[in-house]
Amino acid sequence: MIQIVDKQNCCGCYACYNICPTKCIHMQSDVEGFGYPVVEIDECTECGLCEQVCPILEDKTAGNYEPLAYACINNNETIRLESSSGGLFSLIAEQVIDDGGVVFGANFNENFEVEHSCVEIKGELEKFRGSKYVQSRIGETYKQAKQLLKSGRKALFTGTPCQIDGLKSYLGKFYSNLLCVDIVCHGVPSPGVWKKYVDYRQAKASSAAQRISFRRKDDGWKRYSVSFLFENNTEYRKTLNKDLYMRAFLKNVCLRPSCYACQFKTIHRQSDITLADFWGIDHMLPDMDDDKGTSLIFVNSKAGQAMIEKIADKMKFKEVDINEAVKYNSAAIKSVDTNSNREKFFEELHKLTFDELVKKYCTDKLSIRVKRKIKAVLKKILMKVRLFGLAKKAAGRK
Ligand SMILES: Cc1cc2nc3c(=O)[nH]c(=O)nc-3n(C[C@H](O)[C@H](O)[C@H](O)COP(=O)(O)OP(=O)(O)OC[C@H]3O[C@@H](n4cnc5c(N)ncnc54)[C@H](O)[C@@H]3O)c2cc1C
Ligand code: SF4
Ligand code: SF4
Ligand code: SF4
Repeated sequence: MIQIVDKQNCCGCYACYNICPTKCIHMQSDVEGFGYPVVEIDECTECGLCEQVCPILEDKTAGNYEPLAYACINNNETIRLESSSGGLFSLIAEQVIDDGGVVFGANFNENFEVEHSCVEIKGELEKFRGSKYVQSRIGETYKQAKQLLKSGRKALFTGTPCQIDGLKSYLGKFYSNLLCVDIVCHGVPSPGVWKKYVDYRQAKASSAAQRISFRRKDDGWKRYSVSFLFENNTEYRKTLNKDLYMRAFLKNVCLRPSCYACQFKTIHRQSDITLADFWGIDHMLPDMDDDKGTSLIFVNSKAGQAMIEKIADKMKFKEVDINEAVKYNSAAIKSVDTNSNREKFFEELHKLTFDELVKKYCTDKLSIRVKRKIKAVLKKILMKVRLFGLAKKAAGRK
């Protein structure tokens, strides 16, 4: 039976939850807002299935397929602008639907929580488009995918690398009608922190949010912005380095513990295709950089290669050296370092307001030091000016 002793050893993939034959595993949020499995011991038959499917506990063997990397741009400009990078997810998903399949991905629900679901018509793919920088709840979607695959339906499952490993472990066998697409994954922030931020923004706007986007490209793809559209027709929009939530995310202060020791970062992946932002495109292939978004993709299997050939006439693409591309995107192969403020950030999560939290724990130490130095120098100058004034006055009186 699964027991979480060290939280770094659970990526929250839901494989154990989906496999348990007696449904005695519940996913419960901890104080940080991340879901972990909790077993109702009285109902457990000690069948051991939960441990067998856990992707953290399994031995990882690298496949023998040598991955290829490409820079890609979807020819459909509208969809590309709605997407985080070059819009490759939508091209692949549309092809799967054209082939009679279903698509699984991460979407916002009516409360702006992030969860996985599936769609089978192209018009509904929009809800999966765009990165949501929050851990997505898998729920029962592995079970749903298995039923569809067993019935012979084609399926595309998209998610983080650990979600794809979790799905594959849960399925336990190869399905030729399944295509898996993962992302290069920086790490996933806490749904609890995200909820606090949504509440904070709604309170500031005195209105409920209607639409949220993490990756608006109005000021360019490289300087993307976070946007909230509210029911009172106002909009909040800030670039990534100014938005409070993105600052916390990129400072690695609120990621899931497993993301600091991620076992799924490699160029030899379980997925058929990996999607990423092509950071470094301006150096490697300036011709493919118009600052509207270029995707970096890894093709990790024959099925992945077959898909890319099918959609080739709907995109611009060029093969690149995978090792060179990864130099600009270390998140593909390397976990982020733990922020030394992480513990204190979560200790005060429910005590401070969102802006207080970010100001206190996500401001560069260097800039605080620099600010202090500037203050001290200004103070000295002011003192000197005052002393000079006093001396002048005294001299005048003589
Ligand atoms: C949490 C997170 C961290 C990321 N970190 C990096 C990084 O460090 N470097 C990098 O190059 N790229 C990273 N990406 C990937 C990148 O932001 C784009 O999602 C990717 O390039 C696909 O873009 P696209 O234009 O093809 O399609 P888009 O339409 O932008 O992509 C949508 C796809 O992303 C999936 N998705 C969205 N949110 C989530 C989520 N919370 N959990 C699981 N799947 C999700 C959807 O299901 C869909 O498959 C990250 C994405 C996420 C969600
Ligand atoms: S051992 Fe079997 S019954 Fe018990 S929690 Fe795990 S999967 Fe469920
Ligand atoms: S990593 Fe996945 S399968 Fe393993 S314990 Fe956590 S939720 Fe369960
Ligand atoms: S960093 Fe690793 S453990 Fe964290 S969500 Fe991404 S793939 Fe999963």
